Amino acid sequence: PPDVAQLGRSTWTFLHTTAAYYPLKAPPETQNNMMALLKSLSLLYPCSWCADDFQKDIKYNPPDVSGREGLSRWLCERHNSVNLKLGKERFECTNEKLDERWGEGPKN
Ligand code: FAD
Repeated sequence: PPDVAQLGRSTWTFLHTTAAYYPLKAPPETQNNMMALLKSLSLLYPCSWCADDFQKDIKYNPPDVSGREGLSRWLCERHNSVNLKLGKERFECTNEKLDERWGEGPKN
């Protein structure tokens, strides 16, 4: 079986980084591609109980793929729901914190 923690860290890195570099305002085709990526991930993720919970979470909280800020915050909240389940610390889902951790950070 896969190393669920290592898989999770890698997957969150990919997802949060992709969101941090997503267009500020995504064109329709980009939105469709992101929606397909998230749906596919929830179906193909190689940890079956993680995938089941992610599918349910996505169903009740549909992805906001309109642009960078909405997508980053939406993902942050999904990650927080896994953090809660695992007893991990909550991340503060502000655009400032998210950009600092996963994007280019504050401009100087
Ligand atoms: P991770 O939770 O992997 O976080 C990596 C880094 O992201 C942190 O160091 C922090 O800097 C940052 N971060 C933390 N929270 C947030 C946030 N809310 N927004 C943005 N950045 C943040 N594991 C299970 O055991 N059971 C599950 O059911 C499960 N479901 C998962 C579902 C999905 C879709 C994914 C991608 C992973 C899942 N995992 C699950 C794995 C789990 O979320 C962690 O990745 C794993 O436990 C390793 O945790 P970690 O403490 O190293 O940090």
